[in-house]
Amino acid sequence: MKYACPTCQKQITYSKDNKFRPFCSERCKLIDLGEWASENHRIDGKPAAEEMLSEDLEQMLKLPKD
Ligand SMILES: [Zn+2]
Repeated sequence: MKYACPTCQKQITYSKDNKFRPFCSERCKLIDLGEWASENHRIDGKPAAEEMLSEDLEQMLKLPKD
């Protein structure tokens, strides 16, 4: 059974002896975990989109009314 490594997309043969599966190697496993960590960090931080939205709202509120 062959499948693609989620990190590098390399075709690898399924093996129960591969302790890094579903990754092809320890390197790919660590890269994936690193991306997970950075995604979590982004979620914890203030999302840029939300900041822009509130800035827009502030701008709108500052506009003089006709
Ligand atoms: Zn890989």
